[in-house]
Amino acid sequence: MKPGNSVLSSYGTTIFETMSRLAAEHGAVNLGQGFPEGLEPPALLDRLARAAAEGPHQYPSMMGLPALRRAVAAHEARFWGLDLDPMAETMVTSGATEALAACLFGLIEPGDEVVLIEPLYDSYLPIIRRAGGVPRLVRIAPPDWRLPLDDLAAAFGPRTKLLLLNSPTNPAGKVYGADELAALAALLERHDAVAVCDEVYEHLVYDCGRHLPLMALPGMRERCLKIGSAGKIFSLTGWKVGWITGCPALLAPVAKAHQYLTFTTPPELQAAVAWGLEEEAGYYTGLAGVLAARRDRLAAGLAAIGFGVLPAAGSYFLTADFRPLGFVGDDAAFCRHITTAAGVAAIPVGAFYQSADIAHFARFCFAKTDAAIDEAVARLARHFHRQG
Ligand code: PMP
Ligand code: GLN
Repeated sequence: MKPGNSVLSSYGTTIFETMSRLAAEHGAVNLGQGFPEGLEPPALLDRLARAAAEGPHQYPSMMGLPALRRAVAAHEARFWGLDLDPMAETMVTSGATEALAACLFGLIEPGDEVVLIEPLYDSYLPIIRRAGGVPRLVRIAPPDWRLPLDDLAAAFGPRTKLLLLNSPTNPAGKVYGADELAALAALLERHDAVAVCDEVYEHLVYDCGRHLPLMALPGMRERCLKIGSAGKIFSLTGWKVGWITGCPALLAPVAKAHQYLTFTTPPELQAAVAWGLEEEAGYYTGLAGVLAARRDRLAAGLAAIGFGVLPAAGSYFLTADFRPLGFVGDDAAFCRHITTAAGVAAIPVGAFYQSADIAHFARFCFAKTDAAIDEAVARLARHFHRQG
């Protein structure tokens, strides 16, 4: 048999799936894959049930239900002051993952350079490479996750087509500030490049911090596509409803990719999300307060065991240095070890980098119930204190 596509075949199964399978096999508390527990908004589930009973159940427009497109535009205006034409500047996708793929397939021409900032969400590089793009990597690294502006400037050049930016960042929890975004905006203008902004954690910013979309900066309205995810906004990651907003000139080529990737997204899910964006704003604006308490609970528990826990300004992930525990081995070995021997799953932070030098941090998801967090901490404490 002839082989499959060589770019995609060169990747293994994603770390999230791998660790979740291992967690299930070993009955581990799963603080690995980023999905929330115990936070689903009941009114939205009722709304989905109603939409499922009432229908329709046939293909919606490839651009999305008008009600959802209007709700997305209203959401962007309300929270970020962005003035978008719902029928010309929004498109519904099957999750942010599809939105990312549609942006990358729709915009990249073979040989185009794409600037990315490590740590990288797992789908970025495979899709860029499959689209023929040439990645130019800059990195932020623990413990301070500082953006090296000189490296960034050096990564841009005449062949730069786009920047892919994730803020708030998975797994770093970094929320890019106004100065950093201004520097990025200046580079985009200087090199006539555009940005794809993965802002799925836009409402998950803690400690009085504030998310700022790159698109909201002067001159950036025509250079940015902004991606959102109902899965993250409503703690319903299985729903896979997302969207892209941006000016028609950028959105049009992306719609060409979307029409051949998924074409559309289940209508009852779109209807429920449209309702939720308008009527359940109290839920998602309150979520950061709920999650900050869980972050602090998990951080305190891990710190008491001896982990070097880094601050998390956004997203739902904590990064923890496990060297103080005396474990011998890299982050992949550590995460496998705690999953199988302590019954707690985490994700190696090195999985978000291309080179293997960042190898002593584990990512723990804190969007879990208090009971799950307490159980995970108790298991880790028993395990390491028994050894120590
Ligand atoms: N981008 C980032 C940074 C993510 O962490 C995730 C993961 N959930 C996604 C995109 C994908 O979102 P969705 O589930 O809506 O496809
Ligand atoms: N975004 C989630 C995470 O970072 C995982 C999504 C997935 O499994 N593809 O854990």
